[in-house]
Amino acid sequence: MIPAAKPIIGDEEREAVDRVLRSGMLAQGPEVKAFEEEFSAHVGGRHCVAMNSGTSALHLGFIAAGIERGDEVIVPSFSFAATANSVVLAGGVPVFADIDPRTFNLDPNHVETLITKKTKAIMPVHLYGHIAAMDEFQELSSKYGVKIIEDAAQGHLASLNGRNAGEFGIVASFSFYPTKNMTAGEGGMVVTDDAEVARMLRLLRNQGQEIRYQNEVVGFNTRMTDIHAAIGRVQLAKLPGWTKQRQSNAAYLDANLKGVVTPYLAPGTTHSYHQYTIRIPGGSSEKRDAFMAGLTERGVGCGVYYPTPIHKLASFKLDLTLPETDLVVKECVSLPVHPSLTQAELETIVSVVNEVAAAL
Ligand SMILES: *Cc1c(COP(=O)(O)O)cnc(C)c1O
Repeated sequence: MIPAAKPIIGDEEREAVDRVLRSGMLAQGPEVKAFEEEFSAHVGGRHCVAMNSGTSALHLGFIAAGIERGDEVIVPSFSFAATANSVVLAGGVPVFADIDPRTFNLDPNHVETLITKKTKAIMPVHLYGHIAAMDEFQELSSKYGVKIIEDAAQGHLASLNGRNAGEFGIVASFSFYPTKNMTAGEGGMVVTDDAEVARMLRLLRNQGQEIRYQNEVVGFNTRMTDIHAAIGRVQLAKLPGWTKQRQSNAAYLDANLKGVVTPYLAPGTTHSYHQYTIRIPGGSSEKRDAFMAGLTERGVGCGVYYPTPIHKLASFKLDLTLPETDLVVKECVSLPVHPSLTQAELETIVSVVNEVAAAL
């Protein structure tokens, strides 16, 4: 079976963990600081504050960016639940907008129609590693005075006109969960170009204190451990090479797959292929599910991210119509694109997909 996703853990990661364990200093310390500095080099030198998860990074990012009780934040419904959960956890109200079905990302035109006096921020998600329409969101930000916050959990090294994900919003949050393009075991990173926001994030993640027992605000414990940071540092060094490999795997699939809609690339963007997501045209989840069963029978792993739009989950249950979102959840399926695929496995994926798609 060719797995749909596969974290790559090598001897360097094991040695890094061992180094921390031997040091006897396990909690947030010098490894976290070094990880933050090294990550900063990939986001235009912005301030980086490490957290224990991507969800904590989003949650505290909202608080530090000034989201308060009742503030509306426009988000896509076609995303992982944490996108909207973090708005609620910060006291805000998520307002769900539709997507551009080509990129799977938040549609700036629909977002504009949802802006009200209560709108405080827009949070695009760089879904699957395709950067969102950041130029259009910056325009909406200037026109309406709303903040842009990035859910960059899937956006490592995705770029638009030479600027990486994380370099656009007042805050941007990354995740290092094991299925992401790089991992720390668990973990997250908030990125900001505002020194005051960065200081607030450091306070919030550590009980509101910068100096021990001098608590300035009511805070959390969402610190990253040095054990996780040590893994993250090794993985970060490997990330550019892995991203190139994902891009070359995707280029091979683009050139050879038939009978399915391959991923779109908006002008000026580089895709980091967190997922290689195709569409099975026809607007039928039965057809898509039959396609997936055909792949699984023939040993090719695949998955649907995400089968239920957030607004329809039991945790939100909102009566909304988002036509593009409702269509895409029935047609999308992600194929293996991870950097450990061999040429033979890529060829198998192509022959199996083309055979199964032709027989649908
Ligand atoms: C993974 C993910 C998150 C949450 O990150 P965790 O590290 O799992 O907490 C948030 N948003 C999106 C889009 C994600 O893919």
